[in-house]
Amino acid sequence: MIAEEIHQITEQLPAGVRLVAVSKYHPAEAIREAYAAGQRIFGESHAQELQLKHGELADLQGIEWHFIGHLQTNKVKYIAPYVSLIHAVDSPRLLAEINKQALKAGRRIPCLLQLHVAEEETKFGFTPDEAKAFIESGEWRQLEGVELAGVMAMATNTDDTRRIRDDFRRARRFFEEASLSADLPAFKELSMGMSDDWHIAIEEGSTLIRIGTTIFGQRQY
Ligand SMILES: *Cc1c(COP(=O)(O)O)cnc(C)c1O
Repeated sequence: MIAEEIHQITEQLPAGVRLVAVSKYHPAEAIREAYAAGQRIFGESHAQELQLKHGELADLQGIEWHFIGHLQTNKVKYIAPYVSLIHAVDSPRLLAEINKQALKAGRRIPCLLQLHVAEEETKFGFTPDEAKAFIESGEWRQLEGVELAGVMAMATNTDDTRRIRDDFRRARRFFEEASLSADLPAFKELSMGMSDDWHIAIEEGSTLIRIGTTIFGQRQY
C-alpha cells in the first residue's frame, strides 16, 4: 500500500519537484516500508517525535529528515544536529535560535520562510510584506548557521480550488521576486502542496510537496 502510493505520486512529479513523505504520528515501521520503496525524504512536525524516530531509524542510509510544522524555539536543540531542512520558519526569533543551535552543532541549516497566504487567521507565518521587509533588513546576513533556502506556504483549507490556486500563486510570486535577489543564491525551494491540493501546487510552481495521509493513511496516534 505505502509503496504503491509513493510510486503513484513520484511517477507524476515533473523534474525538479521532490516528495516529502509526511510521517508524523505514524510508526517507524511505516517509514521503513516507505524507505524500502525508495523514499528518502521524511517530514515530521514534532521535535521529540522526530528525535525518537531519528534514533530508531539511524540504520537507514541516506534518509533525510525535514521539519515541517510549527517549531518552538526551545525545541530547536533536539533536531539541529541532523535536520536537513526546516520548512516553517515563522519569526526572526526562531531563525536566530536555529542559527545558534546550528553553530553549536557545527552546521549550516537550510531554512524556508513560512508565508502566510491563507484566509485563516490562525496560521503561523510572515505575510508577504513582512517577509519582504525581513529579507530587505539584511539582519539574517550575520546568521552563519542558517541558509535562507526558499519559502513554504499552506493554502486556505477549503474546497474552493480557485481560492487554493490563488493562495499558491501569491506564494510563488513572492518566491520568484525574492529568488531574483543576488543576495539569496540558495533561495530555490517553494514548499507547497499536501494530500488534497498537491496537483494544484505543482501547477503553480511547487518544488517540494508534503504528503502524509495519501501515503500513510489516517494518522495512527
Ligand atoms: C501534516 C502536514 C502535512 C501533510 O498533510 P496531509 O494532508 O496528511 O498530506 C503537510 N504539511 C504540513 C505543514 C503538515 O503539518
